[in-house]
Amino acid sequence: MKIVLASSNKGKIKEIEKLLPNFEVFTYSDILGSFEIIEDGDSFKQNAIIKAKTVRDKLQEKGYEDCIVIADDSGLTVPALNNEPNIYSARYAGVNATDKENNEKLINKLKENNIEKTEAYYTACLAVAYNDNIYTTHGWMYGSVIDKSIGEGGFGYDPLFIPSGYENTLGLLDLEIKKKIGHRAKALELAMKIIKIILK
Ligand code: IMP
Repeated sequence: MKIVLASSNKGKIKEIEKLLPNFEVFTYSDILGSFEIIEDGDSFKQNAIIKAKTVRDKLQEKGYEDCIVIADDSGLTVPALNNEPNIYSARYAGVNATDKENNEKLINKLKENNIEKTEAYYTACLAVAYNDNIYTTHGWMYGSVIDKSIGEGGFGYDPLFIPSGYENTLGLLDLEIKKKIGHRAKALELAMKIIKIILK
């Protein structure tokens, strides 16, 4: 049984692979070549389902049987900024924006609003597709964002994000903590219960 990740985000892939050490994990582009998946849903859940279904359908078309597809749609929400960037996290500074450009945009928004530090949270929705069934799970990580980038660790908004109960950003902290308190790890823990039932 192959686990196929419906993602091309290197940061996410690395995290999910680490969280699934006992599985043979492939990315969809390893098997199908790369193609764009249009994420036009209006929630993390809708977008995760779109990604999982798109990859599941293409795998079925090409005759790949017995694959479990996992899609992750995730992002950062800042309530003090009208819940931005939310589902637009990856394209906050524009389509194909880099993490650096997105972080700069968030820093500028915080500064424009005279905010040095404010509450924020990450959401991850995972969609698991197996044959004709789709299951979804969610996980969250709470903390704050600050108006500067500190550290090089993690990916995306991690250098701006301080998890609750910690003093440093995820750019500086040991990323092993994401395995314990991370939004993706929490969603994956729930998804594993579904995967175990599929594998029985
Ligand atoms: P997606 O690929 O459309 O789900 O967009 C995910 C985006 O959310 C990423 O490009 C990051 O900007 C942000 N994001 C999601 N999870 C994380 C995380 O664990 N750390 C930092 N940024 C994240």
